[in-house]
Amino acid sequence: MYSWRYLEYRYLHLYTSDKLYIFKIKQILYNRESSKGKAHIGGGRTMKIIMLGAPGAGKGTQAKKISDKYEIPHISTGDIFRANIKNGTELGKKAKTYMDQGLLVPDELTCDLVVDRISEEDCKNGFILDGFPRTIPQAECLTEALNERNEKMDYAVNVDVPDENIISRMSGRRACLNCGATYHIVNIPTKKPGICDRCGEPVVLRDDDKPETVKKRLDVYHAQTKPLIDYYGDQGILKTVDVTLPMETVFDEIVKMIEA
Ligand code: AMP
Repeated sequence: MYSWRYLEYRYLHLYTSDKLYIFKIKQILYNRESSKGKAHIGGGRTMKIIMLGAPGAGKGTQAKKISDKYEIPHISTGDIFRANIKNGTELGKKAKTYMDQGLLVPDELTCDLVVDRISEEDCKNGFILDGFPRTIPQAECLTEALNERNEKMDYAVNVDVPDENIISRMSGRRACLNCGATYHIVNIPTKKPGICDRCGEPVVLRDDDKPETVKKRLDVYHAQTKPLIDYYGDQGILKTVDVTLPMETVFDEIVKMIEA
């Protein structure tokens, strides 16, 4: 277990020039702090999980709960891009032009970012990918990077929601642009209206959660991301869960599947 001081030293010295990595420090430190005293999967098993599903299916909420329970980092490419937009990095500027239109950020801006992130020390017992891969080339890039280390993903959890539920879910979604926490005005309200429980910043309807952009994102999901269900089905690691069930039931189902 590395100390906070060591992590700060390592990342600040290696990457002071790039705000993306400063964000990474915060993410690592946050994950370490929030996971103190939580359960491990045990038996020396690793837990490398992909969350698949349409935008707004609730995969981020479940990913955070899994990350917390098993002490594995939650890696959300959407959060990484948003942090870069907030910090005004070059990557953020490029990503924003695609995100605002409901389009995917090109694979060449996405793959290396994730491959680098999962190579970090805190991912050695596993990690949970939320929003990556989103295309077959991204999945192939991930498979190849893991093959090079004689590793593979353990599970791809497909959170299955009919399209008609998505638009209503997304219009009620609220996000904290500061720490990435997500809420829903009915299903997962903040304790204080409009204020993030985790960091106290305001929560907002993200631009890309607005109905016109959601429609585009759903089209993109069907064309480019849904084929991953067959890709991971063929690899024998696909688990599907019905997310129209209550959130806690969905979480219990996922835990049962991955601990079976
Ligand atoms: P999310 O928060 O995962 O719904 O992602 C928000 C937006 O970020 C998406 O609509 C995409 O524009 C972009 N994005 C996130 N992850 C990826 C990815 N793996 N590949 C390409 N674009 C992505």
